[in-house]
Amino acid sequence: MVLALDRTGRHMSESAAESYSTRMAELNIHDVTSWIVDAPTTRKHRLSNIEISHQSYVIVRVTLRNGVAGYGEGATLGGPRWAEESVESIKSAVDLYLAPALRDMCAFHFEEAALRMAKAATRNFAAKAAVESALYDSVGKSLNLPSSALLGGAVRSSMEVIWALASGDADQEIAEARAKLAAREHRHFKIKIGFKRVRDDMIRLRRIVDAIGDESTIIVDVNQAWSEATAIRHMPELAEMGVALIEQPVAAGRIEAMARIAARSRILMIDEAAFTCEQVARAGTTAAGSVLSLKLVKSGGLMELKRAAGVAAAFGMELYGGCLIESGIGAAAHLAVFSTLPTLEWGTEHFGPRILLDDVTKGEIVYKDFQIECPSGPGLGITVNEADLQRMVRNR
Ligand code: MN
Repeated sequence: MVLALDRTGRHMSESAAESYSTRMAELNIHDVTSWIVDAPTTRKHRLSNIEISHQSYVIVRVTLRNGVAGYGEGATLGGPRWAEESVESIKSAVDLYLAPALRDMCAFHFEEAALRMAKAATRNFAAKAAVESALYDSVGKSLNLPSSALLGGAVRSSMEVIWALASGDADQEIAEARAKLAAREHRHFKIKIGFKRVRDDMIRLRRIVDAIGDESTIIVDVNQAWSEATAIRHMPELAEMGVALIEQPVAAGRIEAMARIAARSRILMIDEAAFTCEQVARAGTTAAGSVLSLKLVKSGGLMELKRAAGVAAAFGMELYGGCLIESGIGAAAHLAVFSTLPTLEWGTEHFGPRILLDDVTKGEIVYKDFQIECPSGPGLGITVNEADLQRMVRNR
């Protein structure tokens, strides 16, 4: 039963309640379709254990009974390696389990949708986040409201945007960073380290710091590649170089090792070690880091990402808007949530739309004066060109 109130807060008359339920029925989910998309990147992107030259993601389209379509994105990085999901598993989870669980329900009932998805599939966070993003986009477009309004309302319209240096070639990375600085696009740089020899990483890092350290903030992401001993051994050198944050130096499951490393440094960022709110709470109680990287692929949805941010903030952690090289759709979904967070000390690293040579959205996300501007249109604020989408769909 729908409990309906009129504008003065009184219960509506039967006919008004009926028109309310009619309007809600217009927001019923009519169709959920997903596609795997492959997009080439402008340069190689190397992590400790992954190297990519194209990015693959799943686009989910939810169509409501009123005919409005909303889009969401499920991201991965180089197959099921950054986490356990792959584009193939995301598409299967959406098509076979999540979409059937949402059949005939109202897209506006976000909590119910999340509960149904939780019942239909455990974890599968990227798949759930893709569907939930599409729900927020379709409902926002139907009501002519930005999705951020459905998440408590935006408290910021733009944020500092970090760029990743991840080719592994110091000369190329210095040239790339200098171009970003000159164009006033980025002044915070995340450098991917954790390749074969630590000494080579340190030499490369010192060259970059010497070249651009005075005018930029340097963050390093080890992507779980180090042992606790290696991390502790190199902490003083990283601190001496002025590195502002060290992200996830050791394996995700070694939360106590993170805590022992964190005890010797105030600048550890937790990424792969904490996906769920329970894991964030555990990272907080064990003091495993001072900063949390927030990602839809870790939280499994926009609402849950907000809750993870709240748990982290309650433990005194600073917040960082992480990415997995999403396209414009995924970036817009993140920006919708990030724009509503009471605190977001580090801004975001949603540079994905700029590293992809081809995107299914066009130009709604603006990078200017070291900031990324949140799209302000209805829903996620982006328009998907279906012809571009179909051109990029994987055919096999
Ligand atoms: Mn990371």
